Amino acid sequence: MGPAYLKAYRMIKDDPKTSEVETTLFDSLLVGTIRTDPQGVSGEITDSSASAKAFATGKKAVNGRVTDSAASATAFATGHKTVNGSLSVNLENKPLPTVLEKAKRMGKSTGMVVTSQVYHATPAAFIAHESNRDNYSEISSQFFDNQFQGQPYIDVLLGGGKKYFMQDKRNVSKDFASIGYDIITNKKSLLSSNNNRIVGLFADIGLKKKLDRNKDTPSLADMTRVAISKLSTNDNGFFLMVEGSQIDWAGHENDIVGAMSEMEDFEQALKEALDFAINDKQTQIIVTADHSTGGLSVGATVDGTDYYQWNSDVIRAFQLTPNEIALRAKVSGDLLAEFEEATSLIISEEEKLVLREADPKQHYKALALVTKIVDRQSYTGWTTQGHTGVDVNLYAFGPNSSQLVGHWDNTKIADFIFELLDK
Ligand SMILES: [Zn+2]
Repeated sequence: MGPAYLKAYRMIKDDPKTSEVETTLFDSLLVGTIRTDPQGVSGEITDSSASAKAFATGKKAVNGRVTDSAASATAFATGHKTVNGSLSVNLENKPLPTVLEKAKRMGKSTGMVVTSQVYHATPAAFIAHESNRDNYSEISSQFFDNQFQGQPYIDVLLGGGKKYFMQDKRNVSKDFASIGYDIITNKKSLLSSNNNRIVGLFADIGLKKKLDRNKDTPSLADMTRVAISKLSTNDNGFFLMVEGSQIDWAGHENDIVGAMSEMEDFEQALKEALDFAINDKQTQIIVTADHSTGGLSVGATVDGTDYYQWNSDVIRAFQLTPNEIALRAKVSGDLLAEFEEATSLIISEEEKLVLREADPKQHYKALALVTKIVDRQSYTGWTTQGHTGVDVNLYAFGPNSSQLVGHWDNTKIADFIFELLDK
């Protein structure tokens, strides 16, 4: 969620009936920027276990300038740098204590709410200690097995990820159920559960994006509201981590429609947190990104012309994301028909021909054909399907927000939370 995503989202939310561009909830909370560099991998440490595994996963950062989500989540969770691919362990594979673990040890309640699988890099870094972020079985086990006073560290865990949490060989959700947690798999049970300790898994892997969800799937705002209502019953307070996980996934797909869908999902979740904090007066909210993705640009060169404009109407014209359009075309065999079903956007005869002749069985190719049309018509640009090293924005609300004003390293987030916990 680099700065370009915030600008694009502001344009998407703009009320066309007024002459000014209205600000977003994010804009009203801006306090600073952070840099996202991971630990570099130099000659003398390449044979350590962590960096060897980082090499093996192909996600190492040789000079430490462009982070992955594991290294940046480790910085947020522990205040320490690590190499890309590693979750809350140092280069010698030693566990680094996390802010969530500390909150639990101090008698607070803890929660995590995401739209990725719950064992994906960001949430995993707050609980698991593992040098390879892709080791999902091991990470899932650690959500239950890493305990304090005979209990798991997490009280409320909501997101996707039935796949590794409900395996035959180790069913982690059954372990949680055996000690009294509610295990929930749809929105109705989420809203009706009155157990303060729950694991809610609403998809095998990640949830569908906001635009593509059905009524059985909760929004990030639904999950955030439920999490706060449960966690806030603890008089000692609580720690909650909420991630709009798929802003990044849409960035990897170079899909501006999906990215804006997930920005809206995230902003609405932030509104839930803000409503609570405004009323409560002693809750600190911090919002930031682990990195930016895709090299999104608002404005692009199309057919050799540099356009000084960006057309948000094109993005607003979609009722489904390009990914969902391509998935449906895989079933129906007709990319053009699925495209026309999902959007009121007018496209040229040449563009129609491209979609008509596409092979929808090739999902990523079909997806790219759709996003290319969106990009050309909206003047949206991308430079990579990976991450970029740009600084990201920092937002805050609450009694200690003034301490975050300025430019910081991403380890500041954990340092700040550890300090608040010590107060
Ligand atoms: Zn990513």
